[in-house]
Amino acid sequence: MERGDRVFPASDLAWDVADALVAWARGQGVEIVPHARVESLVIQGGLLTDLMVLRRSSPIPQRIEARCAILATGGQSYPATGSTGDGYRFAEATGHRIEPLRPSLVRIETHPTFPGAQGLTLKNVQLTLWIDGRKQASEFGEAEFTAKGLAGASVLRLSRQIVAALASGRKAEVVLDLKPALEPVKLETRLLRELATLQRGSCAQLLRTLLPSPLIGAFCAALHLDPAGPASRLQGAKLKQLLSLLKELRFEVTGHGGWEEAIVTAGGVSLKDIDPRTMASRKIENLYFAGEVLDLDANTGGYNLQIACSTGWLAGEAAARRAAGAGSEVVPLVAEPWTFDGAGPGN
Ligand SMILES: Cc1cc2nc3c(=O)[nH]c(=O)nc-3n(C[C@H](O)[C@H](O)[C@H](O)COP(=O)(O)OP(=O)(O)OC[C@H]3O[C@@H](n4cnc5c(N)ncnc54)[C@H](O)[C@@H]3O)c2cc1C
Repeated sequence: MERGDRVFPASDLAWDVADALVAWARGQGVEIVPHARVESLVIQGGLLTDLMVLRRSSPIPQRIEARCAILATGGQSYPATGSTGDGYRFAEATGHRIEPLRPSLVRIETHPTFPGAQGLTLKNVQLTLWIDGRKQASEFGEAEFTAKGLAGASVLRLSRQIVAALASGRKAEVVLDLKPALEPVKLETRLLRELATLQRGSCAQLLRTLLPSPLIGAFCAALHLDPAGPASRLQGAKLKQLLSLLKELRFEVTGHGGWEEAIVTAGGVSLKDIDPRTMASRKIENLYFAGEVLDLDANTGGYNLQIACSTGWLAGEAAARRAAGAGSEVVPLVAEPWTFDGAGPGN
């Protein structure tokens, strides 16, 4: 258990969680077909009848008969994990509506950038998001300076709204408060105290009492101050400007990271086409949906995994009930492009 009640496997390896789930599924009699990619769904008379599956051993897709299927192909983001957006293609081809897809939980690109501070992570800062001049949300926590802008947990939590705003042509701005625990008046008092103590010191020395070193050059540049110049220059208007930089460092959002690095896909198969009690399609009654392929996404904090697990559970139970209702033996089968032999992705 780590800070914020976050839970990780003792080994710190995500593969151990995957291996445990696979072992459990195999123990329940689930057959896993490795190195197999579903190419298309076959629908006849309004029902799913077969899956066309491409296996590594043959260039010709194999037909696998199915009483029902659960479409749990993930989103379109982070394709390195195998989720390349196939599910949206299958859903659309079988008459389901797709809500517009957008990368979410992703870094942002900004103006200005602070290249000298690249890699610096600030803790306990406040980030406020403004869209078209209106305050939208505020996040307290970590922010990281990157080559092109900002990343870190607080940024990721704001990114869903940012990406949506940019996609609809609205202006997004984030305002960084480097001293959220200090009201402007208290911060000014503290600055004046530092100035009195450091009368013969340099601007850089004064700023060092308030800022991490990688930001000092950028602050001096913004204030048109020579870092080696006397700290006493920080008086009157310059002092007010410094206070405003510390409390309201403004970044215009110019872009965001792409599909390959976004943690989650926002948008997806419309919930209007799904029965929430069973996750069954309202278009094809023996086709079920679960996980990120749906128009369901959430913030960081385990909620996306919770969505996948809860919808997967419902879909699994409903699909099993339906398949068992049809009599004769049922073999649950998972087509999976990766192996689960501990070798990791890419096999
Ligand atoms: C780096 C990273 C960190 C994350 N951290 C968190 C976190 O801390 N908390 C949280 O809640 N969420 C987190 N997420 C998001 C979370 O992992 C996903 O929302 C969740 O795994 C979605 O589950 P899923 O089963 O719907 O899809 P996925 O886990 O993406 O699984 C989809 C599977 O379908 C397979 N597949 C795709 N197409 C086909 C096809 N045509 N044929 C056969 N198989 C196919 C893929 O290979 C894949 O195995 C993170 C994601 C990433 C990338």
